[in-house]
Amino acid sequence: METFNSNIFPKGEKASSDYFSGGIAWVQIVKPNDSELNCQIGNVTFEPGCRNNWHSHSGGQILIVTSGTGFYQEKGKPAQVLHSGDVVNILPHVIHWHGAAPDSEFTHLAINTNTQNGIVEWLEPVTDEEYKNL
Ligand code: MN
Repeated sequence: METFNSNIFPKGEKASSDYFSGGIAWVQIVKPNDSELNCQIGNVTFEPGCRNNWHSHSGGQILIVTSGTGFYQEKGKPAQVLHSGDVVNILPHVIHWHGAAPDSEFTHLAINTNTQNGIVEWLEPVTDEEYKNL
């Protein structure tokens, strides 16, 4: 399959290694949070192997994959493989992580909804063992 760079947003700032492991992630805020729409949108780019910590969103989150191959996993469930064009609906308080496949950069829009209820609650890193055993 032909691959091409479909990223239309700047790569943004390096994300904190407190919340990402296995490589570097970049975050560009596309739409800042506000108290009327209660919505924040970020563009997140993960290096191959990079993933975020286990976490949840009190207001929920929608992921729209724009390039590469990656994973989404909810606690206690098998990981889902994600490709560009995939959309993931994450209900409030569901513990999960998302990130790149070992051999692919991965980019998604992260739409944080109902931000009046909170944006993100970070938990522990996804261990190498958890990541390798997907
Ligand atoms: Mn999330």
